[in-house]
Amino acid sequence: MAQQDDVFKKIVSHAKEYGFVFQSSEIYDGLSAVYDYGQNGVELKNNIKRYWWDAMTLLNENIVGIDSAIFMHPTIWKASGHVDAFNDPLIDNRDSKKRYRADVLIEEELAKMDDKVEKEVAKARKRFGDNFDEALFRETNPRVQEIIEKRNALHERFATALNDSNLEELRQIIIDQEIVCPISGTKNWTDVRQFNLMFKTEMGSTAEGAMNVYLRPETAQGIFVNYLNVQKTGRMRLPFGIAQIGKAFRNEIVARQFIFRMREFEQMEMQFFVRPGEELNWFAKWKETRLKWHKALGLGDHKYRYHDHDKLAHYANAATDIEFEMPFGFKEVEGIHSRTNFDLSQHEKYSGKNIKYFDPELNESYVPYVIETSIGVDHMFLSVLCSSYEEQKLEGGDTRVVLHLPAPLAPVKCAVMPLVRKDGLPEKAREIVNSLKFDFSTHYEEKDSIGKRYRRQDAIGTPYCITVDHQTLEDNTVTLRERDSMEQKRVAIDDLHKLIHENVSLNALLRKLG
Ligand code: ATP
Repeated sequence: MAQQDDVFKKIVSHAKEYGFVFQSSEIYDGLSAVYDYGQNGVELKNNIKRYWWDAMTLLNENIVGIDSAIFMHPTIWKASGHVDAFNDPLIDNRDSKKRYRADVLIEEELAKMDDKVEKEVAKARKRFGDNFDEALFRETNPRVQEIIEKRNALHERFATALNDSNLEELRQIIIDQEIVCPISGTKNWTDVRQFNLMFKTEMGSTAEGAMNVYLRPETAQGIFVNYLNVQKTGRMRLPFGIAQIGKAFRNEIVARQFIFRMREFEQMEMQFFVRPGEELNWFAKWKETRLKWHKALGLGDHKYRYHDHDKLAHYANAATDIEFEMPFGFKEVEGIHSRTNFDLSQHEKYSGKNIKYFDPELNESYVPYVIETSIGVDHMFLSVLCSSYEEQKLEGGDTRVVLHLPAPLAPVKCAVMPLVRKDGLPEKAREIVNSLKFDFSTHYEEKDSIGKRYRRQDAIGTPYCITVDHQTLEDNTVTLRERDSMEQKRVAIDDLHKLIHENVSLNALLRKLG
């Protein structure tokens, strides 16, 4: 774990050093859990958003996009249940004065038990070698059985407490499990209290009677309240979806793990409206479709897993997370929820407007059911960054840091470099930049030795470097260097566009999704 912590620290400083992510308001000592994206970060983030947007709106003719405002009528948040129920259970340690989410402390305890099981399995695998029957070992080993039993009992107790919103029981679990504060090391805990996560502000001057409004904690409600507008103006027929990318704000209790727990973050959400009774089939379909979208990036299939929710939100009848293996464990990157007709029904009730859909095939009207796919852009960004980062030992004792970013997501697609800054090579290199820049984000680099320039591009994940030398002036060929293999080959300038396009275009990635 300590080693993983080290790697994560290195990734965080790499993100800063190479212009991916900066602490917000850094020259004023920063603002907790708020971050800015730098010159390379914004490109990577935009590419992630483009991949999601195109996968939703280009590949599905029944999905359209919108961009709703962050400010919305405050009654929306009453109707959605956020004013009354968008809470986290918090607990303080009296000695360190640190605040924690009670549910997260218990989840971490469960994860520790899972780790113990995996360690036992790994030890046995080593001991028994090729003859190891893992399934049998898991089922029969007394030590493993004991841990699993304890884990399941804790899990059940925890799920019941969450479902009943039983705050005393949550505290009791923390006491009984002897969970200590990681800072003070003590068990001196306060009671567990509910804390609403929405930011409130005022709209209009006080003279005219200001109105309390909220910064939206999710983008989904902007879609629900526009459901009728889109359905009618787009003449949409069920099933159909509405996609949106935008900022969301949550006053998170504990800020930690870099951009994983932010107070201002970005979501990509899609609400898919279906006939009542068909929602669980669609839920299963979207679970599969979304995992395929993730896996197409090639970050490693084993790094993903589903995690079904123990506690269903007040609106849901099924919910799953797609989790990704970050250096600090498996964490949620996306939630897929079957939200029933809760939201639309609530908006019908609170607004007094009819939000029913007339189904011409069934010849009846009803409030549609909804499947939601909700992914955090920043979580996605972090998963891509962490799994791409590598410190590589090279032949001859040299080392390099390389980001193996999926090529279509890389901030810079190719860098063009004149070998020397004279003899007409810079001019030739500029010519190449000018021919490629309309299709690919292309950098011109002439400072430092060629080796250093390659390293700089490796560190930001540029898939291709193109080197212009004296031979180029004679035969119009250049050296094309590939980031991961570091292979160099001589290619004609005329072929560059095609060679680069094959690997860096989003198109190729989207085609994998069919
Ligand atoms: P948690 O229980 O971890 O607080 P959640 O399950 O409430 O999160 P959702 O409401 O399902 O999260 O939000 C959808 C997506 O938005 C999540 O999968 C996550 O990627 C992202 N997200 C949620 N909260 C944050 C945050 N504070 N910072 C960054 N991304 C977030």
